[in-house]
Amino acid sequence: MTEININDMLTSYDKKNLRIATVCSHSSLQIFNGARKEGFKTLGIAVGEKKKFYDAFPLGRPDEFLIVDNYKDIAKYAKELREKNVIVIPHGSFVEYLGAENFLKLELPTFGNRNVLMWESDRKKEKQWLESAGLTMPKQVKDPKEIDKPVIVKYHGAKGGKGFFVAKTYEEFCKRVDTKKPYFIQEFVLGTRYYLHYFYSPIQNDAYKLSKGSLQLLSMDRRDETTIDEVQRLGSIAELEEIGIHPTFVVTGNIPIVMRESLLPKVFKMGEAVVEKSLGLFGGIIGSFCLETVVTEELEFKVFEISARIVAGTNPYAAGSPYAEFIQPDLSTGRRIAQEIKYANKKNRLEEILS
Ligand code: AMP
Repeated sequence: MTEININDMLTSYDKKNLRIATVCSHSSLQIFNGARKEGFKTLGIAVGEKKKFYDAFPLGRPDEFLIVDNYKDIAKYAKELREKNVIVIPHGSFVEYLGAENFLKLELPTFGNRNVLMWESDRKKEKQWLESAGLTMPKQVKDPKEIDKPVIVKYHGAKGGKGFFVAKTYEEFCKRVDTKKPYFIQEFVLGTRYYLHYFYSPIQNDAYKLSKGSLQLLSMDRRDETTIDEVQRLGSIAELEEIGIHPTFVVTGNIPIVMRESLLPKVFKMGEAVVEKSLGLFGGIIGSFCLETVVTEELEFKVFEISARIVAGTNPYAAGSPYAEFIQPDLSTGRRIAQEIKYANKKNRLEEILS
């Protein structure tokens, strides 16, 4: 649990001049662009020097930069940032660069519920949360000797799929595994991947209604992962493995996608269950989150991961998605976050969406 008192921090804020800040990476162009569209000033936190590529994107560039020597130093600037009325929008790289512990202690008003982090980053707790919400996760294989169908082996804390590998037998597993690193073995689910981008507002009731607040589906993507997604250009995976080339799962980009419409009721049911469960477990997930799923040939969803904040998969939709279009034209996740902050500020309810 964080010991941050959000109300104490907000009392000194000039609410007419809130400023949206994030780390210059991941989905920052979209976050700054969305904030700008909603009339907020923005601040980008960068290491070493101002990042030059923003000059090529004037509508995605922050209004000002804070240059730090190391992301872990952000906490040292908390007072200065509070004086600028900064609200932080965390994204995956923000949390990774800062480190989970520093992030939890960061004395800055932060969009979302920071308590979600321990439920998301601990595989056992994540499983407890998602399965008790009724979602189906890929089976875990506890003993590698029990591998009798394809599995994916994941190293703890590995980011962006780095080092993951697929094994079809125990022998293959033994050949490939690095036993020095803690790992986790999961059934490899055959099907098509969909990464679903939800937005949950605990304070607005104008979307898919939940026991408290309401849920939106803003977009979905499929990740592009090297080398698995294009390795077949050189031959079948089996052929390549014979000559020692093994596919890898390193994320390099994101591809827009839509799903057959008849699956949408299931998508909302899953999102609803995840939010409802989270309310009881840790006071509720807030804002953007993503369920990473595989849809099987029986049209069942298997959920292999949850990300509890804006994901980079929303980046193809800076100008809106085929789903966001039915909510409001030109609505990105970054813009939706800015809208939530604007609405909460107007209604004097900021403490309900920040932590
Ligand atoms: P993760 O870091 O858990 O998001 O996994 C990285 C990538 O590995 C995913 O984007 C998928 O392409 C793939 N993957 C992860 N878990 C599974 C699974 N159980 N079955 C099939 N593919 C998976």
